[in-house]
Amino acid sequence: MLYLHIPFCSRKCSYCGFYSRVGGDVQTYVDALCREIELRADEVWPNPHKVRTVYFGGGTPTLLSVSQLERIVEQLNRSFNLSEIEECTIEANPECLTKQYVADLRAMGFFNRVSVGVQSFSDADLRLLNRRHNGEDALRAVANLKERGYRNVSIDLIYGIPGQSAEQWQANLDAVASLDIQHLSCYALTVEHGTILDHQTRSGRVRMPDEDEVLARYETLLEWCDSNGFTQYEISNFCREPYRSRHNSRYWDHTPYMGFGASAHSFDGSHRRWNISDTTQYINGINNNNTYFEMEKISEIDAFNEYIMTALRTTEGIDISKLDPVFADGLKDNILKYIMEGYIYIQDGHYRPTEKGLLHADGIAADLIIA
Ligand code: SF4
Repeated sequence: MLYLHIPFCSRKCSYCGFYSRVGGDVQTYVDALCREIELRADEVWPNPHKVRTVYFGGGTPTLLSVSQLERIVEQLNRSFNLSEIEECTIEANPECLTKQYVADLRAMGFFNRVSVGVQSFSDADLRLLNRRHNGEDALRAVANLKERGYRNVSIDLIYGIPGQSAEQWQANLDAVASLDIQHLSCYALTVEHGTILDHQTRSGRVRMPDEDEVLARYETLLEWCDSNGFTQYEISNFCREPYRSRHNSRYWDHTPYMGFGASAHSFDGSHRRWNISDTTQYINGINNNNTYFEMEKISEIDAFNEYIMTALRTTEGIDISKLDPVFADGLKDNILKYIMEGYIYIQDGHYRPTEKGLLHADGIAADLIIA
């Protein structure tokens, strides 16, 4: 699995705590990114050359011109064997997906999945989130993708936005129903430290909805997905089968991956490494052979804990055969009470969360990990 991070955005969304920057020398960054791919192609990661999925995330990857994207893909092709590739995703912001851009992206022939950062179809929500697009732009973006034959389209939505009524959330879901969408990622709005939203809530200008309201929106979402043919396969992810995100599913089952670009993470099964979250230092590091990343060995306990935390958020659950036998024995004892209380069930060698279990996945996982 390969992840490419494009950390540029045309403005900062009010809730965004990711590393991204407004403005900057995109071309120099693309050059450095290609150089990093070239430099690291021979790293001894488990099966690094058998690439099945590629994901361009951000930031806003669609701020790159199609020729810049092509340049990166050419470098990937030179460094890796992409002949067995299954899924290539690009994250896109609606305002970037003009007819021309989508036509060029399609002609490029690499990406077979587009994940659109819609967040809401309501202009009031989008203003509060400080997004650049409006609801019409979002609808038009999806229409442009469909017109050009993109079959596998995902959209992101946010619920629990201040001022978002139950009716407005329902209207968002109804808008999705009117579109030919294969995948949906829905996240509750959270206040990240240092964001615009953080300042707005601290100063009292914006009031976040209470927990019950947010839970009610989530329950509406689950009901809507159930009656509109969307299968929940992770706490925040839903699809019309068989369009699960293969890339993200592999993160959740702890498949090794390589990440390129500023702030990108990599995981080889026993080490985690992360590139510096600063484009200038990243570019300097690559160009001048200076250190631009940190790395740590993951202990067996940390690896077990991370797997429990992510796997319990998925309907696949915990694959018992993947566990160290000693840890598996301990887990068997601790998980029993959750099985008895109907939060977890055992199927095909997996501990899987029930619907109720999925709702409480984080709390259960926190109780099951090794302190
Ligand atoms: S587009 Fe995405 S990465 Fe960029 S500021 Fe908004 S939320 Fe953050």
